[in-house]
Amino acid sequence: MLPRKELFDLPKGVIYLDGNSLGPLPKGAAERAAKVITEEWGQELIRAWNTADWMALPAQVGDRIAALLGAAPGSIATGDTLSIKVFQALDAALRMRPDRRIILSDSGNFPTDLYMADGLLKNLDKGHQIRTPDPADLADAIDKDTAVVMLTQVDYRTGRLHDMQAITEKAHAAGAVMIWDLAHSAGAVPVDLARSHAEFAVGCTYKYLNGGPGAPAFIYARPDIVDSIEPALCGWLGHEAPFAMERDYRPAKSTERLRVGTPSVVQLSILDAALDVWTGVDMHALRAASIELSEIFIAEVERRCPSLALASPRDPEQRGSQVSFAFEQGYAAVQALADRGVIGDFRAPNIMRFGFTPLYLDHDDVVAASKILEDVLSAERWRDPKYHVKSRVT
Ligand SMILES: *Cc1c(COP(=O)(O)O)cnc(C)c1O
Repeated sequence: MLPRKELFDLPKGVIYLDGNSLGPLPKGAAERAAKVITEEWGQELIRAWNTADWMALPAQVGDRIAALLGAAPGSIATGDTLSIKVFQALDAALRMRPDRRIILSDSGNFPTDLYMADGLLKNLDKGHQIRTPDPADLADAIDKDTAVVMLTQVDYRTGRLHDMQAITEKAHAAGAVMIWDLAHSAGAVPVDLARSHAEFAVGCTYKYLNGGPGAPAFIYARPDIVDSIEPALCGWLGHEAPFAMERDYRPAKSTERLRVGTPSVVQLSILDAALDVWTGVDMHALRAASIELSEIFIAEVERRCPSLALASPRDPEQRGSQVSFAFEQGYAAVQALADRGVIGDFRAPNIMRFGFTPLYLDHDDVVAASKILEDVLSAERWRDPKYHVKSRVT
């Protein structure tokens, strides 16, 4: 059943090892976008909110994501960007523990999650503090002062994978609220949100879920706490009755209260089409295939490229679906690789990052990529000055 390359429009001659950053174009997506634009928007105009049921899309897509993450239908709202969803989840979580002041994250968290937390805490001005221990010390740092544990399950640099079940249990035993950022987990590793019992989870859909650049984010709230959530962002589409146009905000009696404003219909439609590639995919089989590809890549690269140091955990059970190598000239090497058809990416200060996405990668791709990497390094192709020009996005 894997890979399903034929479901994607991948450019010829490219081995794409960056689906962890921006998933490729699924075949049905362009057609769906064209239909939404020309038929629905173009012909139906504003009537399309009803005739094409645009207003139902956010929940419909949320349910499809929920199915991939072991969450109940109705427990995931979609929209906005992940940064916004982090803000909403953290604010809601802090309100659930008004007597506690410590937010625990880790030093490997993605910058925007920590920036959003800093900004929220500054606004609240109640003396909260955020602590970011080394990921290895995180579990021991949870204590009775911890209001919220807010973690990204898979470290964007190293690929290190937190044990969702164990950490959530530890957080709950200490009386803390748990928030998981699944940016690098959704569509990459099996997730069982309901079983984890975590209060909140957030994530984006343009990475392993292939929703396209700027695709809407998602937020999960555990069904039993939804009614007590006081939304930080009281937008009209999170209102119980948006079109009653009441003066006062009344939150919807569902996860919909975590919606804010008008949904991005074109982008949501693309995501809806992109989710078709998951029909019938067993996440455990996907995980096994991802581990197999990553293990082959590590073995090949370590054999061929002695100057690279593995920056990911060696134990595959402790990695997400990416493998990173540290290399002083990583930026230039990644550019040289891309010039030769192997697309990975670079994360400062020295990480070359490669994502493994078994839906459209196979054994031959991985071996071919490692050979090209060997050539870039052994012939020092990265020395070419053109590979040292820094682009705006790395
Ligand atoms: C990709 C990613 C983001 C991106 O946030 P946006 O608001 O979608 O730009 C945030 N957090 C993590 C952990 C990520 O991996």
